[in-house]
Amino acid sequence: MPLKNELREIECPKCWVTMKQEEVEVLGPNIIIDICPECGGIWLDHGELKKLLKNRKLSDYLTKHIGTQSKSKLVCARCGWLMDIEPAEDVEVDVCLKCGGVWLDYGELEKLKAISKAGFKADELAKAEERWEELAQKDRESVLLGLFRRLSRR
Ligand SMILES: [Zn+2]
Ligand SMILES: [Zn+2]
Repeated sequence: MPLKNELREIECPKCWVTMKQEEVEVLGPNIIIDICPECGGIWLDHGELKKLLKNRKLSDYLTKHIGTQSKSKLVCARCGWLMDIEPAEDVEVDVCLKCGGVWLDYGELEKLKAISKAGFKADELAKAEERWEELAQKDRESVLLGLFRRLSRR
């Protein structure tokens, strides 16, 4: 396993200043997260949110099956890819569609911890709706194509 310290420093996706690396004690090996000295935002690489929240359900909900649509204006601080916004109650987390990195605005980690403590109930309906929307978009073309083929066989 490569040492996290060897990862290059990253820039805040909002302020473009170099973020400060900070070691955090978690269960298992400590993790090093990146904190912006300007806005106080936190960058978490894939898997770090789970360790910080100690809540698999909540972190999986935020970072798994996020689809391909990008609703976020941010680009990933780690890989430069598009990000999407994933909501959990009143918190909106930015997640990279490629590497699964997570951006938390100042104070959002505390809010997520509170949500986690209160017992998070996943909004499966909203999640399913989003997935359906995406499928529908992809299907529209193939449905039209199929219709056209059926009509042209007559
Ligand atoms: Zn910042
Ligand atoms: Zn990324």
